[in-house]
Amino acid sequence: MAPPTAPHTSQSAATASDWHRDLARAIRDPETLVTRLGLDPSHLQPARSSAGLFGVMVPESFLARMRYGDSDDPLLKQVLPVADEQQSHSATVDAVGDLDARRAPGLIHKYNGRALLIATGSCAVHCRYCFRRHYPYGEEPRRLDEWDPAIDQLAGDRSIDEVILSGGDPLMLSDTRLDQLIGRLEAIPHLSRLRLHTRLPVVLPSRVTATLCDRLRDGRLTPVVVVHANHPAEVVDDCADALLRLVGSGLTVLNQAVLLAGINDDTDTLAELCTRLANLGVVPYYLHQLDRVAGTLHFEVPEAEGRRLVAELAGRLPGYAVPRYVREVAGAAGKLPL
Ligand code: SF4
Repeated sequence: MAPPTAPHTSQSAATASDWHRDLARAIRDPETLVTRLGLDPSHLQPARSSAGLFGVMVPESFLARMRYGDSDDPLLKQVLPVADEQQSHSATVDAVGDLDARRAPGLIHKYNGRALLIATGSCAVHCRYCFRRHYPYGEEPRRLDEWDPAIDQLAGDRSIDEVILSGGDPLMLSDTRLDQLIGRLEAIPHLSRLRLHTRLPVVLPSRVTATLCDRLRDGRLTPVVVVHANHPAEVVDDCADALLRLVGSGLTVLNQAVLLAGINDDTDTLAELCTRLANLGVVPYYLHQLDRVAGTLHFEVPEAEGRRLVAELAGRLPGYAVPRYVREVAGAAGKLPL
């Protein structure tokens, strides 16, 4: 089957200067977020307090998909700091065991055959439920030569055939830096696949440039792009165009969503999300149970409810459009199916 055709819009011609400009314009303080959306000023004080724990970051493109004046908007609730974040702040900061699995600066090795690089600590959006919101990114490599220990470790372990670029968000790296890092991985003969975990095609769609698509498609390693959308209202307009550009370039594109209370914990919303993704040629691959890190527990949905939702999805959608419901367990050899 032929992949969907990339749209001929101005976004098709997005360049590096476009996404750098869009990133520079992202909202970085609660005052601007509350004001721009016409929200009641009562949101400001708790937003200021909780932004002290984890700052605000919202690109204009993502803001444009929110409903003006609606504090229940499902996209806004993913990025607006709230008082609940302080109530669970004494919970763990590393629910998924990242730090125990750190083998070298920037290198996390948990699963057979796959290793993960923390390519950068930066993101274009700050998701309030983020499982790495407490990760010590300052200790990870920044300059290319600081990757030497991780690259040496990968080169010395022939059991690894796939590297996952994660973060933060690996697409926050410039095309030049990304090309350099991928080039070092391509030089390791036993590596076969390169996976990128990224939310930028969803929140900063101008990042999906022709240069990026060409580099991923034409590299030695087989690419897999895993994007992250949680609600169907995210998968519209310039985001939908960006996903089409990735798919239309011949890349395998999967989605992982997080099950979030008050945002996507109902069958209609999840079915619409999965349908929109499938219509664009994106596989709705995973639905994650929330990782229980400090500041996020108000997003948690009971597992029994998650199972019920996925069972209902299976009754409505074709099998390929039903995500696998999983959770990550620290120290386990793979994700746990729920
Ligand atoms: S994009 Fe990913 S890593 Fe960045 S804040 Fe959101 S969930 Fe966390």
